[in-house]
Amino acid sequence: MQIGFLGLGNMGAPMALNLLKAGHQLTVFDLVPAAVERLVDAGARAAASPAELAAGEVELIITMLPAAPHVKQVYLGKEGLLAHVRPGVLLVDSSTIDPISAREVAAKAEAQGNPMLDAPVSGGTGGAAAGTLTFMVGGSATAFERARPILAAMGRNIVHCGAAGTGQAAKVANNLLLGISMIGTAEAMSLGVALGVDPKVLAGIINTSSGRCWSSDTYNPFPGVMDNVPAARGYSGGFGSDLMLKDLGLASEAARQVRQPLLLGALAQQLYQAFSLQGNGQLDFSAIIKLYRKEDCA
Ligand code: NAD
Repeated sequence: MQIGFLGLGNMGAPMALNLLKAGHQLTVFDLVPAAVERLVDAGARAAASPAELAAGEVELIITMLPAAPHVKQVYLGKEGLLAHVRPGVLLVDSSTIDPISAREVAAKAEAQGNPMLDAPVSGGTGGAAAGTLTFMVGGSATAFERARPILAAMGRNIVHCGAAGTGQAAKVANNLLLGISMIGTAEAMSLGVALGVDPKVLAGIINTSSGRCWSSDTYNPFPGVMDNVPAARGYSGGFGSDLMLKDLGLASEAARQVRQPLLLGALAQQLYQAFSLQGNGQLDFSAIIKLYRKEDCA
């Protein structure tokens, strides 16, 4: 299939490479020339602008951009996709943005005859490279069925969540819980260890008891408990605290718009904000345990 791909960053580049590997023809665009060159070297065609990409022969366009302002500019700007795309071309935005903005862009696209899906992902850069991402997809069932085989070249779990915006809603709800559960795990581990329990023994108890969660059994923040997690390498790599802060901000903004209280989420957001202000934004989000402990976590 002829596919357009915009946004060739940490996630977009490996996703686009997987589409090439699956035999699709790609036309790509990014503001950073080096990012475009890497894809051209792998067999993609370069477009000079979103407008040129949209006006070409593409049947489907995927975007993987940093945040909602970039998505709005790329789709709704004067030289953006909607102003130039042919009717019927399917649009898929995989950026993580708030559900309300996703619905706004999708409504404008649908109104001019372009079906649109929000399809944010989880799985990180490792999942993007391995083609094992989870896609949470919002939009019509017909559009979902059209996109599914393409998304399957980049991911393992492709889930239709419902109408436009529900992919982003699912993503935001999941990451809200992740932020809260990581802080809860850090707090509980730190208390147990301060009271004299060995961290590995404590993690073993929690992970076979009712406190168990992904943050405790797969991504434990306490150093020395698990290998191959950011806590085992000084909290480098992984999912940055500033990215978690961004997602908690999305949850908070989405909650405000539907008047849904976020009590623990608001506290989690403030804790990550303070943590970021202290210069820790690039550390993995499990480093939030530093708020509770000095020793072992430096
Ligand atoms: P990134 O900053 O590495 O890449 C974004 C790319 O978009 C950059 O190459 C940038 O030049 C390009 N870009 C920005 N504005 C543009 C424009 N107007 N036109 C064309 N290109 C433009 O970000 P990323 O890590 O690839 O993340 C992309 C999205 O995926 C974000 O919404 C992020 O929250 C989400 N996400 C990231 C991860 C992760 O682990 N990195 C995991 C899941 C979801």
